[in-house]
Amino acid sequence: MTLPAVQVSQSPEEKFREFLSSRPRPQRFTGQQRELVQYVFSRHHHFDADQLIDDVKSAGLNISRATVYRTLTKLVDSGLLRRLDLGSRTFFEHDYGYPQHEHLVCEQCGKMIEFQHPAIESALREVAADNQFQFSGHTLLIRGVCLECNRARATKRRLDLI
Ligand SMILES: [Zn+2]
Ligand SMILES: [Zn+2]
Repeated sequence: MTLPAVQVSQSPEEKFREFLSSRPRPQRFTGQQRELVQYVFSRHHHFDADQLIDDVKSAGLNISRATVYRTLTKLVDSGLLRRLDLGSRTFFEHDYGYPQHEHLVCEQCGKMIEFQHPAIESALREVAADNQFQFSGHTLLIRGVCLECNRARATKRRLDLI
């Protein structure tokens, strides 16, 4: 499921260029980085670094492994991507131009279901306010088993009984 995009004034590429040039030591926006930013922002999904390296290769782009890793870190620092730590694996997804949302994560198949719920949002803001804590964002990960995996489990259980 993909949530509707949020209107933004700059393209991801422009925002990243600005980030690189405004660092204490301005950095060059290389051709490989530009291709990677364009590729990452051409679709919304949750991916890890190894998946991205494979996808980039299948898309026929010539971007080194080291560049992918380095650029991912910078994309997180610049607010373009959000990092999701799922125990042993780290996923990335769009942050810039994409609404705040939460995730249901299936522990069997790895599927992530995105959702928004106004009551959760206001409860978190309330907790932050109670602690005089300046709220900048949140990422809730709810672990469990998805419908399909649950069904598969139930079927297997039934077959085991026969
Ligand atoms: Zn599942
Ligand atoms: Zn997400």
